[in-house]
Amino acid sequence: MEMNIKPVIEKKPGKPIVIAGPCSAETEGQVMQTAKELAAQGTVDLFRSGIWKPRTRPGSFEGVGTEGLAWLKRVKEETGLKTTTEVAKAAHVYDCLKAGIDVLWIGARTTVNPFSVQEVADALKGADVPVLIKNPINPDLGLWIGAIERIYKAGITKIGLIHRGFSYHGETIYRNVPRWQLAIEMKRRFPALQMLVDNSHICGRRDLLADIAQEAMDLNYDGLMTEVHPRPDEAWSDAKQQITPKVFGELLNGLALRQTTSDNPVFIGQLAELRRQIDEIDDELIGMLGRRMRLAEQIGEYKKANNIAILQPDRWQELIDQATQKGSTQGLSPAFMQTFLRAVHQESIDHQEEVMNSKLV
Ligand code: PEP
Ligand code: MN
Repeated sequence: MEMNIKPVIEKKPGKPIVIAGPCSAETEGQVMQTAKELAAQGTVDLFRSGIWKPRTRPGSFEGVGTEGLAWLKRVKEETGLKTTTEVAKAAHVYDCLKAGIDVLWIGARTTVNPFSVQEVADALKGADVPVLIKNPINPDLGLWIGAIERIYKAGITKIGLIHRGFSYHGETIYRNVPRWQLAIEMKRRFPALQMLVDNSHICGRRDLLADIAQEAMDLNYDGLMTEVHPRPDEAWSDAKQQITPKVFGELLNGLALRQTTSDNPVFIGQLAELRRQIDEIDDELIGMLGRRMRLAEQIGEYKKANNIAILQPDRWQELIDQATQKGSTQGLSPAFMQTFLRAVHQESIDHQEEVMNSKLV
């Protein structure tokens, strides 16, 4: 789909776009205090605050509702900060537009549901409000792309993305694992869409926030969204991941911002040489993978001649063990080795299967 996307927020050169504010608007006092302390730092582009909270289980704090929109209006009047909140239903969109909320965002639990996204999109028709779209909770880029398309088709051209990580059922230090390569793939497919990292919902805990923000900056993200609360431990939602305005200021100060290009000829020369070497290695790897597949095909022919099943579980386990062991001597993580081997093994099986099921041999 041909798209003419415009930035959600004008990015100042050399500075990340900064969205900060509490997970939820709790009281007028809490909202105003957070906004004033953040505004005083002069680095925040947009003040965030959840008004309607999508909670996994009923009974938790589900947001103050429309009453909170008046508090966000007051934030804008008294601090000059523009505001943003999450919308999940048509009624939310209408209320926000009426209250003059500057930017809307679609949450991860909404992006997964095309009915909800379409409802929001329909309510946005004719409005000129920027929309940020969070990734769906599950790692399905189709849903994320579908949400972009639905919002764009409604006539919204200022669209951006928020990467908030993906739910994961294994053991992990994160609340939602980042899976950076998925966001990078979105950046590749939609280069005009600004990409922000929501380090709060990726981390779920304070001590990891700075590292994730830095990693996003190193990957050339446009900015970040972080949950900030004057008394994080007392927050009515997501207490463990919120930080005070002061700590947030320190986090921003500590970020090393990289340039995407340089005009230093020595650096450019060195980089070109390293990239040339990487291209050479990639070519070799592809050639070797091709040779590996030819061998798999030969094995397939023998198996066919002797009527032996393709998958040999012992051999597969042996391959994984050996490769994980060898990989570790090269500084390659077991997780990488296993993903890599699984992909290579699957491709080999496909090649063998083709040989074994062809009528020609
Ligand atoms: C939020 O930003 O407060 C929120 C609910 O986030 P997510 O949709 O990413 O879970
Ligand atoms: Mn939250």
